[in-house]
Amino acid sequence: MDEEEVKQQIEDLKNLPDEKIDTSDIPEIKDWTGAVRGKYAGKTLQCPDCGSHVVDTHHVANPFQYGSGPKAVMLPAIIPYRKCVTCGFQWTDSDAEAVREAAINEYLKKVQSRV
Ligand SMILES: [Zn+2]
Repeated sequence: MDEEEVKQQIEDLKNLPDEKIDTSDIPEIKDWTGAVRGKYAGKTLQCPDCGSHVVDTHHVANPFQYGSGPKAVMLPAIIPYRKCVTCGFQWTDSDAEAVREAAINEYLKKVQSRV
């Protein structure tokens, strides 16, 4: 696989909805034992699909690309995934975005400290 193909794959991934992303190399968590149910960081969660408040949160390692072209880097992130216990719907929300932003800030701090 050459560099162009890799870039194209990353572009394709960005445009995919979460549920279409192939997680076969990072197995999806099926065992939700110990997940916090119904609330996360003091917030009440609600399933966007069925409205249920019985929602589990599980954290999954989910590295993501930051930047583009030759300067692009993969940043580590542990993303909170929500799963509705009632209907099985899974999604990510603003907390996932916050985790990615924090990873970017960490990365930028490291880059700047190298100068
Ligand atoms: Zn639901």
